[in-house]
Amino acid sequence: MKRYALAGNPNCGKTTLFNCLTGSTAHVGNWPGVTVDKREGTYKKGEDPISIVDLPGIYSLSPYTPEEVISRNYILDEKPDCVIDIVDVTNLERNLYLTTQIMEIDVPVVIALNMMDLMQKQGDTIDEKELEKRLGVPVVRISALKGEGLDELMRRAQEVSGQGRKGKTVLDECTLTHLIGDVRIALSGAGVENPLFHAVKLVECDEIEVQMHPTAFKMVEEFKGVFKDELFGADFEALVADARYKYITKHYSPLLVKKNKGLKHSKSDKADKILTHKWAGIPIFLVILFGIFHLTFSEDLLWLGSIFGFSTLEELGFSENFGTSLLACVYDGVIFSPGMILFNLMDLLTSTVFGWIVAGVEALGAADWAIGLIQDGILGGLGGVLSFVPQIVMLLLLLSILEDSGYMARVAFILDRIFRRFGVSGRAFIPMIMGFGCSIPAMVNTRTLADERERTLTIRTIPFFSCGAKLPILVGVAGAVAHITGLGDGSLISFSMYVVGMLLAVVSILLMRSTTQRGEVAPFIMELPPYHTPSGKGLMIHLWDKTKHYIEKVFTIILASTVLVWFLSNFGWNWQMVEIENSILASVGQLLQPVFTPLGFGSQLNSFGWVFVVAAATGLIAKEEVIATFGTLAAVFAGVLAPELSVEGATEVMKMVVGTGITWQGLVSFIIFNMTTIPCFAAVAAAKGEIQKGKFRWTVAFWVVASYTTSALAYTVLSWWWTAFIWVAVAIAVGFAIRLWNKKISKKA
Ligand code: GDP
Ligand code: MG
Repeated sequence: MKRYALAGNPNCGKTTLFNCLTGSTAHVGNWPGVTVDKREGTYKKGEDPISIVDLPGIYSLSPYTPEEVISRNYILDEKPDCVIDIVDVTNLERNLYLTTQIMEIDVPVVIALNMMDLMQKQGDTIDEKELEKRLGVPVVRISALKGEGLDELMRRAQEVSGQGRKGKTVLDECTLTHLIGDVRIALSGAGVENPLFHAVKLVECDEIEVQMHPTAFKMVEEFKGVFKDELFGADFEALVADARYKYITKHYSPLLVKKNKGLKHSKSDKADKILTHKWAGIPIFLVILFGIFHLTFSEDLLWLGSIFGFSTLEELGFSENFGTSLLACVYDGVIFSPGMILFNLMDLLTSTVFGWIVAGVEALGAADWAIGLIQDGILGGLGGVLSFVPQIVMLLLLLSILEDSGYMARVAFILDRIFRRFGVSGRAFIPMIMGFGCSIPAMVNTRTLADERERTLTIRTIPFFSCGAKLPILVGVAGAVAHITGLGDGSLISFSMYVVGMLLAVVSILLMRSTTQRGEVAPFIMELPPYHTPSGKGLMIHLWDKTKHYIEKVFTIILASTVLVWFLSNFGWNWQMVEIENSILASVGQLLQPVFTPLGFGSQLNSFGWVFVVAAATGLIAKEEVIATFGTLAAVFAGVLAPELSVEGATEVMKMVVGTGITWQGLVSFIIFNMTTIPCFAAVAAAKGEIQKGKFRWTVAFWVVASYTTSALAYTVLSWWWTAFIWVAVAIAVGFAIRLWNKKISKKA
């Protein structure tokens, strides 16, 4: 089977094209460098199936980033039958810069001029026939987004593939051309493949090449001794880069005729003036983030219910029936937010279906313990988690829209200005913000960070950016907080919890940068991709991927562990069914519960602290587990621990939680603890894979200490405000200790 590789700059549309060609479920996003992993698929519309590889997005074939090395080695070593070089016409020069380097390799190349639809919309024109003549390889106009020109592209690729092509360079007009020629002859004499490419890279003093061809590099060094350019001295790399750009602007750029010769501000620029404004940028980001939370979690949309004092359905004289329950999903004295409407509907659906299942099992005359297992152990746990699926999907959808539109890249940019002072570059914020979805890809994405220490501290703080699986904890428990405090809305509490996580990340970075992970911040250069209307198809593929993963998790690992929790909470050490207070789970939990007393969910709850301890512990398997465990325990506890709550629609979980006698401060601390402590197994494994050896143990210890301290702080200060003075005193003491320590170190050095 023939193999084609897709190469191009970040955000040039590679993944979009890849998805079009292969129909695969690869994610389409705007993160610079999201495509770190190799993605393969098959194109089946031609005569023969063709294997397609999506290479990581790169600006150059130099060896500075992992992406560059991956792409370069793939083309050189794996020798694809054709390289499809995707060129974003709206950034022609920058994209052709890479093209000129790919062209130096002896491999068939086809240029896909992408974003044709955008170019046409701007009223620009390009003479691609002439460009084809000048480049010497086929040039095809396409729009990956609209799926236009793809057949032609594949036809031209088919024509050139397997024909072989001699590398060609644009450096013929440059002062180094003779040196390149001599090195090339030396290399090809030594039997090196792709002599031209290696010769140019050697002249650029590329580290990889210098190691590979030390003898040939002597020629370059000798020449360096006698050669001085007015502008660049003996910096050959800069000289070559300059020569490439000069050639591109002289020979290729004039073929693109722009309508508004850059005089008028484009719409993108206008939007950026506001969205990336020095002062307004961050408040705007927070408002947008809060808007998203409000739409997803608010039980009182735009606070209309509280403002106007709407009547509940009961007050309006509705009788209880299915129609009323359905109506109550949307309106019941308040107008629910879209996310809550979805939640209510899902809750109604699961409780109705589960009710049928239980009735069916009972009708079949199953034993009591079996009914208990099904009703409490399985359905109790699953119901809690499944109800959150629509809300999670909605939050992911809204975040993906921000991501795909190009806005998240701007957020990284505006945060860079501020967080640089705290010791990380904006580049680190991209994986951090990805952490809102899932920590695992976020941790993998840190590979784009150049500095090892910056990587370590980024991986450590990623779990503080609360992932999708932690949502149910937030929403479920925030509901109980709202109930106890009488602050009728969970969305404000959820939002504050997210902010607490982000603040903790900032504090941790500051602390690590001044102690164990000292270092300078690498400069942050990022292209702001133009704004795009996110493609519906791409979003759907992405969402389906995530949802599928979530549901798979619910029916495998979560199901298995809720059943385990049910057994442990129903059986005693004598393997007989006992009251929950005497169960194995309760006895183990009670043993551990004193540890959590300073956090507000330990011994002060007498014999109930273990409920929280156990829930947090099961969270290490998967974070959804916390609520699933609550669901199972609440079902077992029903009657024992379920005071009649005055609020309508209080869930079983809420009744149990309130019944344990926990204070709202304790609950807030519980949420913070779960959000910031050791993440789930899978994320821990990812961290282990990404972090340098020796540092992994410390990372786990860091998570434990950070979450414990933060939760204790939240609990004590919220419960007794004056304890804030103690915390401030401790913080000052720690600050001084670090300063003293650092002075000692700098004296030694
Ligand atoms: P990659 O980084 O090269 O994989 O780029 P992506 O495939 O993720 O595309 C980046 C952005 O460009 C996405 O928002 C796409 O929807 C958008 N995009 C890709 N191709 C086109 C196109 O032909 N026209 C337009 N208007 N947008 C496109
Ligand atoms: Mg991509």
